[in-house]
Amino acid sequence: MSNDKLTLALQKKGRLSDGSIELLKLCGIKVSNGGNHLKAVAEGFPLEILLLRDDDIPQYVADGVADIGILGMNEVLEKKKDVEVVRNLGFSKCRLSVAVPKTVEYTGRNFLQGKRIATSYPVILEDFLAENNIQAEIHSISGSVEIAPSIGLADAIFEIVSSGGTLLSNGLREVDIIMRSEAVLISNPNLSELKKKLLSKLLFRIEAVQKAKHNKYILLNAPESKLSEIISLIPGMKSPTVLPLAEKGWCSLHSVISEDDFWEVIDNLKDAGAEGILVVPIEKMVV
Ligand code: ATP
Ligand code: MG
Repeated sequence: MSNDKLTLALQKKGRLSDGSIELLKLCGIKVSNGGNHLKAVAEGFPLEILLLRDDDIPQYVADGVADIGILGMNEVLEKKKDVEVVRNLGFSKCRLSVAVPKTVEYTGRNFLQGKRIATSYPVILEDFLAENNIQAEIHSISGSVEIAPSIGLADAIFEIVSSGGTLLSNGLREVDIIMRSEAVLISNPNLSELKKKLLSKLLFRIEAVQKAKHNKYILLNAPESKLSEIISLIPGMKSPTVLPLAEKGWCSLHSVISEDDFWEVIDNLKDAGAEGILVVPIEKMVV
C-alpha cells in the first residue's frame, strides 16, 4: 500500500467491473489493466488499484491493505467487516429475495418456519430469520443456489435477483424481497489525514458525475409575451438564462432540470407556448 496514493480495491471481473471502470472514467480517471494482473495503474488521480474477487474486498479494506473499495452493499452486509460505507453509487442494482418453486403457495414469511433455505448469503439470511422469529435450516452454498429446490436440497432459496430470468428457468418464483442492493464505495475507518483529503477529492468528482446524471440541460424558444409564465414552470437551479433571438418578440431560455421532473415539465412548457425544446445530457455538474 502506498502512502501518498489511495489504494482502491475493485472487482477483477464480474457484474461490478464495468460500472466501476465507467464511474472512474467519468471522474477523469483512466484505468489500464495491462493483462491479467492483480494491480492496475490509474491515470488522472493518485490512485493505486487492486483487482480482487468481490468477496475479498471487505477484508482488504478493513485490514488497510486497500484504503477504499467498490462492491455490492449485499457483500458489505454479508461480510460484516469494520468498514465505512461512504457513498451509494447507483449501479449493479439487485435485490435479495426469497423464491420458492412455482407450484408452491407462499403464505407469507411464516411459510419459512421449519423449512430448508438454500443461500449464498447465510449471514444476511440468519439476521433476517432472527428479526422475524423464524426457525429455519440454512443451507449455505456458494453457487447455483437456484437448482437447490429441484434436486430436493431445499424448500426455498434466498438469493440475488435482478431480472428474475434465472429463477424462471429453474421453475422458481420470487415471493418476498428482503433487501435491495447497489454498488457502494467503502472506506477503511482509520485513513490518514492525507488519504482523507484524497478521498474527499474523489468524492467531489463522484458527486459531480452523479448530479450531472440526474439533471438535463434544457434549451427552448419562447415568445416574450409568455416568458414569465414559462419561467415559472421551470424548477431550475437558479433563474434561467434568457437570450434574445434574431426574430423579434422571441427569446431563447436555458436552464437545468431534474430528470425526475423531465416529462411533466416538458408537457407544461409546450402547453404554455414553448417551441424548439432541446434536452441535452450534462457531463459534469459542480454547484
Ligand atoms: P467474484 O468472482 O468477484 O466473487 P461474484 O460471482 O461473487 O464475483 P458477480 O456475479 O460478479 O459476483 O456479482 C457481483 C455483485 O454484483 C453482487 O454481489 C451484486 O451486488 C451485484 N449483482 C449480482 N447480480 C447482479 C445482477 N444480475 N445485476 C446487477 N447486479 C448484480
Ligand atoms: Mg463473489
